[in-house]
Amino acid sequence: MKRKISEVQKARHEANRANKKLRQGEPTGIGRRIFDLDLLARDFWCSKCEIGLSFRFLESETVHGLASVYKIRCNKCLVLYTVQSSSPVPAASSSGRLLYAVNCKFAMGKLLFSIAKGLFLMVILIRFQ
Ligand SMILES: [Zn+2]
Repeated sequence: MKRKISEVQKARHEANRANKKLRQGEPTGIGRRIFDLDLLARDFWCSKCEIGLSFRFLESETVHGLASVYKIRCNKCLVLYTVQSSSPVPAASSSGRLLYAVNCKFAMGKLLFSIAKGLFLMVILIRFQ
């Protein structure tokens, strides 16, 4: 009888696989990301060695919606850098919560899509009354 693998077991297996690759110095290659190219060009750089950083030396990734914060080590001087995939946006409230431009743009796009969909349905209903 074939055992059914739960979602938790699948997630654990995937995390173990990613950790093993990180230990071996390979990029995880899991999933896709959206990058602000200005930030990538500016921050993916070791200012001490004057060389580019590489995802081959990625130490950790913290995901915040569509944005990520990476800890990447320079392979020459071993300085650990923090690189963000999207610009941080100051929060409107005083909660101190850090927002990212990519997440705000996505939320705005989703809101505008909902409004446009509602307007479209109203036009269809009025037209075919
Ligand atoms: Zn360096």
